[in-house]
Formats: sequence, structure tokens, C-alpha cells
Amino acid sequence: MYKLLLLIIGFTTVHSSFSQPQKVAKPTKVVLLGTGTPTADPERSGPSLAIIVNNTSYVVDCGPGVVRRAGAAAAKYGIPSLKPAGLMHLFITHLHSDHTIGYPDFILTPAVLRRNGPLEVYGPKGVQSMTDYLLKAYKEDIDIRLSGLEQGKPTGYKVNVHEIKEGVIYKDSNIVVTAFNVHHGSWPQAFGYRFKTSDKTIVISGDCTYDDNLIKYAMNCDILVHEVYSEEGFAKLPAAEQAYHSVFHTSTKQLAEVANKVKPKLLVLTHQLLFGSNKERVLQEIKSRYNGEVVYGNDLDVFETPITNNNIEK
Ligand SMILES: [Zn+2]
Ligand SMILES: [Zn+2]
Repeated sequence: MYKLLLLIIGFTTVHSSFSQPQKVAKPTKVVLLGTGTPTADPERSGPSLAIIVNNTSYVVDCGPGVVRRAGAAAAKYGIPSLKPAGLMHLFITHLHSDHTIGYPDFILTPAVLRRNGPLEVYGPKGVQSMTDYLLKAYKEDIDIRLSGLEQGKPTGYKVNVHEIKEGVIYKDSNIVVTAFNVHHGSWPQAFGYRFKTSDKTIVISGDCTYDDNLIKYAMNCDILVHEVYSEEGFAKLPAAEQAYHSVFHTSTKQLAEVANKVKPKLLVLTHQLLFGSNKERVLQEIKSRYNGEVVYGNDLDVFETPITNNNIEK
């Protein structure tokens, strides 16, 4: 049985300068909404996770199933900001379909369910165009809902898109969000994100191969959520698939190297590409080279501080 987790994080730094987030009333939470890949695994929704700070949610990526997984997490853990109407901030790592098929869901379902809006979306070049096309695709639906007896709220359907570059891309009293470039094969832009709150620094890799830039931005973070593929599974793939995955994704061996440099307090594996291998092998491949805490992420896992290490799955 997989449980909540976690580690003892012994720092209590409170930042007070203007540019730093205010002290949080509750510990920051990381909620895995989807840990899957393009594989249509019913146990793993498409890539998405949420950072929860002071009753506000900040969601990264929107794979298939995102709104329903957010609703499940809201109910399971009592997190109102993960109810559909609370989904106001979205950060997209890159435009691969497995990370964005839930985007129309993220725009429309909360709008139907009375989100006040507007939705603020941050991501690479192309997000504006994707948004425009989606709103056009659903124009008939939106018109009916806004103009008829349903009396939908126009602001709930409004989407403010911010096409970003590396650097600090968002800041409020809870959080400072920094985007950084990662190498994900032939994508011209793919981002990782660093979320800094008053009690925690969380880094999300997005999809990428081994990347020194990620190491730079993730250095000494509290939680590193990183994609991974099985080295054992990879070795059995045809050469063409190896050529593809080796420039788009990160092997267990490479991730152990990343983790040994970054030294996160907790490493969470997500977007696991097994290629016929399994969870135990993936963990073993990492742990044979890396001694820190590592967790094989599952949908609806939650990580928070202060953390106890009683139920970290070894
Ligand atoms: Zn992906
Ligand atoms: Zn991708």
C-alpha cells in the first residue's frame, strides 16, 4: 500500500525580502495528478502535478484526465484549490500531446463549473496558438453556455496566455516560479520549472534528457520530480527507438548522475518509461548508483513538509 510520504526536512528558513514569498500558513504540498506517458495506462493519467501553497494551486502540465484527478485529490486530501473552480494557474513544460491533451478540459470543465477566471497559462511559444484554436474549436459550446439559460460566466472562459523564456516568469505572495530551458530532443523550447515558496524549493523536470541546465537550477532543492526511463528496458529496444529516446528522455543511470549532483532531499520519479521493465528494476537501477531518498511516483501521491520518513517506500 502506497502512502503519503516523506522526509524530515530540517530547515526553517523564513524569507522576508520583497522578492521572496511570504511565510506559508500551511506547508507546501506537491500532488501528483498524473504520472503517465502516452501509454494509455488506466492507473496513470497523463503528466500533471500541482503545487499547493496557502489554498492556491499551481498546476504543471495537463495530460489526459487532469481535471478528474485534481477533483479526486481535492476530495481525498481536502484541498479546495484542486476543485475545478480553483484551477486558475497552469504552467506547461512543452507541447507534446501527452502533456496537453487535457488542456481543453482544463479550460472548459472548470468554466462550466463556475470558475471565476481568467485562467493564467504560462508555456512555450505555440501555447497562444493552441489556445486560440481550442477556443475556436469549442466556440459553439461556449456560445450556448454563455448566451442561454445556463448563464455561464464569461470570465470563466477567459484565458490569459504568457509565452515565456528562461527566467522568473511568475511571482505572487505565495511563490516565485522560474522557468529554465531543458533539452527534449528536437523541441525548440521545453521548460523545467522551479517553484520557491517560503518553506520549500520544488523542481519539475518536464520531459528532458540529461541536462546541465537542470542541474544548475535544481541544485540542493527539496523535491526534484524527474522523468525517467529504464536502462534495462531501453537496452532491448530497436536501434531506431533507442536513437529517439536517448535524445528525448533520461535514463536511470543519467538520473542517478543528476541526483548525485543536485542532492535533492527527495527524488520523485514520474513519466516512467519502462519499455517492458518494471518499477522494482527502475528503483534498483537508480538506487545502485544513488544513495538519497527516491520514490517511484504514483497518481495522487502527496509530498509535504514537515516530512517524516516513516512511510517512504524503500
Ligand atoms: Zn511526455
Ligand atoms: Zn515530451
